[in-house]
Amino acid sequence: MRLCDLIPENLAGEYMSRLVVRWNDARKIWGDKIGQVPYLDYNLQRSRIIGLAALQDHTIKLNPLWVLLSERDSHIKDEMLGETLDHEICHLVAWKFAQDRGHDSGWRMAMKLMGREPKVFATSEDLPSWTKAYEGLMNEMKQELKDKADLSDTYVISQTDEV
Ligand SMILES: [Zn+2]
Repeated sequence: MRLCDLIPENLAGEYMSRLVVRWNDARKIWGDKIGQVPYLDYNLQRSRIIGLAALQDHTIKLNPLWVLLSERDSHIKDEMLGETLDHEICHLVAWKFAQDRGHDSGWRMAMKLMGREPKVFATSEDLPSWTKAYEGLMNEMKQELKDKADLSDTYVISQTDEV
Protein backbone atom coordinates (compact mmCIF):
# COMPACT_ATOMS: atom_id res chain seq x y z
CA MET A 1 0.00 0.00 0.00
CA ARG A 2 1.13 3.53 -0.67
CA LEU A 3 1.53 5.86 2.29
CA CYS A 4 -0.87 8.38 0.78
CA ASP A 5 -3.62 5.73 0.93
CA LEU A 6 -3.22 5.51 4.71
CA ILE A 7 -4.34 9.09 5.38
CA PRO A 8 -7.74 8.92 7.10
CA GLU A 9 -10.55 10.88 5.46
CA ASN A 10 -11.19 13.10 8.45
CA LEU A 11 -7.53 14.09 8.62
CA ALA A 12 -7.43 14.84 4.88
CA GLY A 13 -10.59 16.87 5.39
CA GLU A 14 -8.93 18.93 8.08
CA TYR A 15 -6.01 19.78 5.79
CA MET A 16 -8.35 20.59 2.90
CA SER A 17 -10.47 22.88 5.10
CA ARG A 18 -7.41 24.85 6.15
CA LEU A 19 -6.26 25.09 2.54
CA VAL A 20 -9.65 26.53 1.54
CA VAL A 21 -9.51 29.11 4.34
CA ARG A 22 -5.97 30.22 3.50
CA TRP A 23 -6.59 30.23 -0.25
CA ASN A 24 -9.58 32.49 0.34
CA ASP A 25 -7.30 34.76 2.39
CA ALA A 26 -4.90 34.80 -0.56
CA ARG A 27 -7.69 35.64 -3.02
CA LYS A 28 -8.61 38.63 -0.88
CA ILE A 29 -5.06 39.88 -1.42
CA TRP A 30 -4.31 38.84 -5.04
CA GLY A 31 -7.77 38.37 -6.52
CA ASP A 32 -8.97 35.93 -9.16
CA LYS A 33 -5.63 35.83 -10.94
CA ILE A 34 -4.39 33.12 -8.58
CA GLY A 35 -7.21 30.79 -9.64
CA GLN A 36 -9.34 28.30 -7.77
CA VAL A 37 -8.40 26.44 -4.60
CA PRO A 38 -5.44 24.17 -5.47
CA TYR A 39 -5.59 20.40 -5.39
CA LEU A 40 -4.10 18.81 -2.32
CA ASP A 41 -2.61 15.35 -2.25
CA TYR A 42 -0.26 13.21 -0.19
CA ASN A 43 1.60 11.53 -2.98
CA LEU A 44 4.95 12.88 -1.81
CA GLN A 45 6.82 9.82 -0.78
CA ARG A 46 10.22 11.35 -0.14
CA SER A 47 11.49 11.44 3.42
CA ARG A 48 13.58 14.63 3.21
CA ILE A 49 10.83 16.84 1.77
CA ILE A 50 7.88 17.92 3.87
CA GLY A 51 5.83 19.63 1.19
CA LEU A 52 5.96 20.94 -2.34
CA ALA A 53 3.98 22.94 -4.86
CA ALA A 54 3.56 21.33 -8.28
CA LEU A 55 3.23 24.59 -10.21
CA GLN A 56 2.00 23.19 -13.52
CA ASP A 57 -0.65 21.03 -11.82
CA HIS A 58 -1.79 23.72 -9.37
CA THR A 59 -1.31 21.10 -6.68
CA ILE A 60 0.14 21.07 -3.19
CA LYS A 61 1.70 17.81 -2.06
CA LEU A 62 2.36 17.05 1.59
CA ASN A 63 4.60 14.32 2.98
CA PRO A 64 2.20 11.56 4.09
CA LEU A 65 4.43 10.43 6.99
CA TRP A 66 4.39 13.87 8.58
CA VAL A 67 0.67 14.21 7.96
CA LEU A 68 0.07 10.86 9.67
CA LEU A 69 2.32 11.86 12.55
CA SER A 70 0.43 15.14 12.90
CA GLU A 71 -2.57 13.12 14.02
CA ARG A 72 -0.57 12.05 17.08
CA ASP A 73 0.90 15.39 18.09
CA SER A 74 -0.86 18.73 18.01
CA HIS A 75 2.34 20.73 17.64
CA ILE A 76 3.20 18.86 14.45
CA LYS A 77 -0.29 19.51 13.17
CA ASP A 78 0.03 23.23 13.97
CA GLU A 79 3.28 23.41 12.00
CA MET A 80 1.92 21.45 9.05
CA LEU A 81 -1.38 23.33 8.83
CA GLY A 82 0.36 26.64 9.45
CA GLU A 83 3.87 27.21 8.21
CA THR A 84 4.13 24.25 5.83
CA LEU A 85 0.81 24.78 4.05
CA ASP A 86 1.34 28.56 3.79
CA HIS A 87 4.84 28.03 2.41
CA GLU A 88 3.43 25.94 -0.46
CA ILE A 89 0.43 28.21 -0.99
CA CYS A 90 2.84 31.11 -1.46
CA HIS A 91 4.75 29.18 -4.13
CA LEU A 92 1.52 28.76 -6.11
CA VAL A 93 0.55 32.40 -5.53
CA ALA A 94 3.95 33.71 -6.68
CA TRP A 95 3.78 31.49 -9.74
CA LYS A 96 0.19 32.38 -10.69
CA PHE A 97 0.63 36.06 -9.99
CA ALA A 98 4.07 36.73 -11.43
CA GLN A 99 5.46 33.44 -12.82
CA ASP A 100 7.93 33.75 -10.00
CA ARG A 101 9.73 30.62 -8.77
CA GLY A 102 11.98 29.77 -5.87
CA HIS A 103 12.33 31.74 -2.65
CA ASP A 104 13.02 35.16 -4.10
CA SER A 105 11.01 38.36 -4.05
CA GLY A 106 7.66 36.97 -5.26
CA TRP A 107 7.49 34.19 -2.74
CA ARG A 108 8.90 36.34 0.08
CA MET A 109 6.35 39.08 -0.54
CA ALA A 110 3.56 36.49 -0.63
CA MET A 111 4.68 35.06 2.71
CA LYS A 112 4.79 38.50 4.31
CA LEU A 113 1.35 39.43 3.01
CA MET A 114 0.02 36.12 4.36
CA GLY A 115 1.47 37.04 7.75
CA ARG A 116 4.44 34.68 7.71
CA GLU A 117 8.15 35.11 8.20
CA PRO A 118 9.72 34.00 4.86
CA LYS A 119 12.05 31.35 6.27
CA VAL A 120 13.78 28.94 3.91
CA PHE A 121 15.85 25.87 4.41
CA ALA A 122 19.50 25.65 3.42
CA THR A 123 18.81 23.10 0.70
CA SER A 124 15.64 21.75 -0.86
CA GLU A 125 16.06 18.50 1.05
CA ASP A 126 16.40 20.02 4.52
CA LEU A 127 13.46 19.38 6.77
CA PRO A 128 12.27 22.31 8.94
CA SER A 129 14.09 22.54 12.25
CA TRP A 130 11.02 21.64 14.35
CA THR A 131 11.04 18.12 12.85
CA LYS A 132 14.26 17.26 14.72
CA ALA A 133 12.37 16.97 17.99
CA TYR A 134 10.21 14.25 16.47
CA GLU A 135 12.78 11.92 14.97
CA GLY A 136 12.09 9.32 17.67
CA LEU A 137 8.34 9.47 17.19
CA MET A 138 8.82 9.26 13.43
CA ASN A 139 10.98 6.14 13.75
CA GLU A 140 8.38 4.50 16.00
CA MET A 141 5.68 5.18 13.46
CA LYS A 142 7.81 3.86 10.62
CA GLN A 143 8.32 0.63 12.59
CA GLU A 144 4.55 0.29 12.94
CA LEU A 145 3.96 0.96 9.26
CA LYS A 146 6.76 -1.05 7.74
CA ASP A 147 4.68 -4.19 7.13
CA LYS A 148 1.67 -2.21 5.98
CA ALA A 149 3.10 0.23 3.51
CA ASP A 150 5.97 0.90 1.17
CA LEU A 151 8.20 3.40 2.99
CA SER A 152 10.78 3.91 0.27
CA ASP A 153 11.43 7.24 -1.40
CA THR A 154 9.63 6.92 -4.71
CA TYR A 155 8.59 10.46 -5.53
CA VAL A 156 10.66 11.97 -8.32
CA ILE A 157 10.82 15.76 -8.20
CA SER A 158 9.84 17.34 -11.50
CA GLN A 159 11.21 20.53 -13.03
CA THR A 160 8.05 22.42 -12.18
CA ASP A 161 7.96 21.41 -8.52
CA GLU A 162 8.89 23.98 -5.88
CA VAL A 163 9.80 22.65 -2.47
ZN1 LIG B 1 9.77 26.58 -0.86
